[in-house]
Amino acid sequence: MVSRIIPVDPFDLVVFGGTGDLARRKIFPSLYRRFLDGQMPQESRVIGAARSSMTEEEFRVFARDAVLEFVNGAKNNTEALDRFIAHLSYVPIDATGEEGWKELAARIRPGVVHAFYFSVAPSLFGALAERLHNYGIADRDSRIVVEKPFGHDLSTARALNAVLARHFDESQIYRIDHYLGKETVQNLMAVRFANILFEPLWNAQYVDHVQITVAETVGVAGRAGYYDDAGAMRDMVQNHMMQLLCLIAMEPPYHFDPDAVRDEKLKVIRALDPVGSDDMVRGQYTSGGGMASYLQDIQAPSSRTETFIALRCRISNWRWKGTPFYLRTGKRLRARTSEIAVVFKEPPHSLFDEAEGWRANTLVIRLQPNEGITLEVMIKEPGPGGMRLVQVPLDMSFAEALGEEGTDMPDAYERLIMDVIRGNQTLFMRGDEVEAAWAWADPVLAAVEGRGDRPNLYDPGSTGPEEALMLMHRDGRRWREMRTG
Ligand code: NAD
Repeated sequence: MVSRIIPVDPFDLVVFGGTGDLARRKIFPSLYRRFLDGQMPQESRVIGAARSSMTEEEFRVFARDAVLEFVNGAKNNTEALDRFIAHLSYVPIDATGEEGWKELAARIRPGVVHAFYFSVAPSLFGALAERLHNYGIADRDSRIVVEKPFGHDLSTARALNAVLARHFDESQIYRIDHYLGKETVQNLMAVRFANILFEPLWNAQYVDHVQITVAETVGVAGRAGYYDDAGAMRDMVQNHMMQLLCLIAMEPPYHFDPDAVRDEKLKVIRALDPVGSDDMVRGQYTSGGGMASYLQDIQAPSSRTETFIALRCRISNWRWKGTPFYLRTGKRLRARTSEIAVVFKEPPHSLFDEAEGWRANTLVIRLQPNEGITLEVMIKEPGPGGMRLVQVPLDMSFAEALGEEGTDMPDAYERLIMDVIRGNQTLFMRGDEVEAAWAWADPVLAAVEGRGDRPNLYDPGSTGPEEALMLMHRDGRRWREMRTG
């Protein structure tokens, strides 16, 4: 019962940074899986372009190894892998130099979709955009794909938008937030807008609060430099968690159309209240259980960067006035889990004496692990023990509803890359959305900077600092348990 694969139009996809980590872990494995499913047309070509002085053969070995490492079962079908690899070629190019560009221009074929994936540091976006234009490689129908981080603050995000806008129209720019490519995130829109059940209750009158948790068990090892400059607020909240909040809070768009959806998300961001110091808790992991502290991991004893943040956000519009949205994210936490929980209010009157067993109806959207949606409802505990209530999950997990195939869901990157080729921007962030999210985040970051305080410490394997629990307790609420699955 998994939907039919509709092949996209033939394409030339140039992956700048094609020898990098993202290309290895995500882009080539994703393309291979789309190829295996027959979605990537035979006439399509993928051209790696990077500063590495690799030969074409070495590049193909690199991409082949990437697929073998990151696609389950790829080693059992080397014939298909060889056919896929035959679509790949390589051009050594320095984004800031002039060599290689004419050769790249010669490889781009007319009459197919042209997409250019900027899988390089954002500081190179301008140089790439300019050369794609100067060498006549990109035309008005070409698409460019850019990765996070999209800016460090509002002014750098604006500068990046301006650099891209010099040579590309907004309709050609695909800013990736891979959270939007997750099956469950899209399913959230289906649940909200393809059913009559939820939308009448989807407001401050019936929703007590919303919790969004993105918890990781890993520390920052390997990305220390980047992370210490960013922290949890920039790395997770301003982009991924903001997008999730928007999808929960937005008004129904008039159509499932890229700009209609993004217009509604933008309105949510603009309606967010400023975050006060009482609305935020920052944390940093200490050492414990044989694991190093954050300060040891980054070898900077005085860093004040947060590896955990909890926020209480308020949306000032008719639908949500009075319903807080609590966000928390962090590293080295108890479990690797991402979920959104929409916690409904109590029924207005209780018929049953059993107040103790009562728990609020909650719609839980799990992004990982075990993507799926659950509605927690109260029922009578089965058996002759009287009218005792118990909460059970109504499970809308895909595995059950869709059979075995439902569990083999495509990676977000597979969907997003195919959407680029299709020319569908719905799941990509528009420039004004990114700027609005920074305009909200900037004062929060500036206030932290101004106060100069240190984050609260928390133990590895915990749920974050005590103060984050208090953020909820003060409101008479509590965080959901942080557990895997
Ligand atoms: P990386 O350092 O592993 O690879 C960088 C790539 O860029 C290499 O192929 C390198 O040859 C190429 N490159 C560097 N300078 C160049 C130049 N002057 N001209 C041409 N090519 C040049 O980086 P990465 O982890 O693959 O990340 C790429 C982009 O994706 C970055 O913007 C990063 O923030 C973003 N990103 C990465 C991940 C990830 O999991 N790796 C996740 C999200 C976003």
